[in-house]
Amino acid sequence: MPKTKKVQAKKTASKKTRADFFRVADGMADILPKDEAWWREIWRAGFSISECHNFHFIETPVIERLDLFVNGADGVNGDIEKRLFVFSLKKGERVVLRPGGILPILRSYVEHHLGYFSSPLKVFSYGPMFRRHPGVDEVAVSHEWGFQIIGDNDPVYDIQSITVVLDFLKSLKIKNTTLKINTNGCRVCRKSYQEKLKNYYAGAKSDLCSRCARMAEKDIASVFMCKEEGCVAVKECAPIILDYLCQSCNNHLKVLLELIEDNGILYEPDPYLINDFDGFNRMVFSIRSASGIELARGGRYDYLLEAIGGRQIPGVGSLLLAENVIIAMQEQAGLRTRNKPKVFFIAVGDQAKKASVRHMSLLRSNGVVVIEMLGKKSLKTQLKFAEKTKTPITLLLGQKEVFEESLIMRDMETGAQETIVAAEVVDRVKKKFK
Ligand SMILES: [Zn+2]
Ligand SMILES: [Zn+2]
Repeated sequence: MPKTKKVQAKKTASKKTRADFFRVADGMADILPKDEAWWREIWRAGFSISECHNFHFIETPVIERLDLFVNGADGVNGDIEKRLFVFSLKKGERVVLRPGGILPILRSYVEHHLGYFSSPLKVFSYGPMFRRHPGVDEVAVSHEWGFQIIGDNDPVYDIQSITVVLDFLKSLKIKNTTLKINTNGCRVCRKSYQEKLKNYYAGAKSDLCSRCARMAEKDIASVFMCKEEGCVAVKECAPIILDYLCQSCNNHLKVLLELIEDNGILYEPDPYLINDFDGFNRMVFSIRSASGIELARGGRYDYLLEAIGGRQIPGVGSLLLAENVIIAMQEQAGLRTRNKPKVFFIAVGDQAKKASVRHMSLLRSNGVVVIEMLGKKSLKTQLKFAEKTKTPITLLLGQKEVFEESLIMRDMETGAQETIVAAEVVDRVKKKFK
């Protein structure tokens, strides 16, 4: 490169604007303080529901070895490197930002012999999952609450994986959801169905949109989801798995649907809801909001552990999609706001500021919500903030009060104020709010 061009290139490279530096990485997104109340509500409901349904907490790392995901399982198909965030560690080990929660938990299940401690093992997890959407400008991170029941194939656990997310949504006051259910069959019966379906779609190629014509052999689930008129018409005449189920799968489905009906749960059978990955079998479900957003989904995965090199241990699970649930909450549900601050703390002078930290800690550890603006020095400015926040009580601490081990308590509504003994501050504040 001639010298002038080199200089020019260097200049261009350094011409990054502030906007370039302060920009989130492609595919990622911030969760901002303005949305705190929604997230807090999900965490509250999530932990409480998990406890009531007897699920125990498990957390696996955000980074896993790529090997764990190469079998095309856990909701990832096609070119895995294009779909996942893959990179190498220094030792040359290929790792990935986890695209789903089930495989890491199965990995941990085997690694730590969790099946010996409880069978079935019921665990819940919460965290971000990362999936790329090649060519689509879509956020690649989604936060999921997952519930797994590993070690038993009884339909009584299928219904538990459904009720736990239904109760979760109910606790968030999300109404008018639709539960769709189908079965994927098993190794014995699914093959003949898949064969029939393949032949049927091969003969209908000319009626499909160009994308579906390409995808029919690779990803039938996405073809079933296509809204193009021609594709919908082809789908509606396609063979359905219910006509191909073996006796054992038929029984499983029958018992499950009886359990669902006995529990008064409304559902819609959906023969086009399938999970086509080899590790998944039998029950599959999806829950959508009134406006059609998918809020939760789940299914049985009796072959998944085997698919990644383990023994055949049955499992069933469900997950709740936090970002989508927040959209549904914003659309319809009332929002519980965070606890309102009760006390505004004002300190004037260095010694008072120091002492105020101890007072605030004591109040907070006793469950009192305290706010302050201690970075501002003058009493006037701090008082102005206190008035703005509409906190019912203000506690004032100056040099004199520190020396006398007292505080001034001011009722912001009436303006009345009194001096109280510092040691009694928690009791006095709590009494005010009884
Ligand atoms: Zn079967
Ligand atoms: Zn189509």
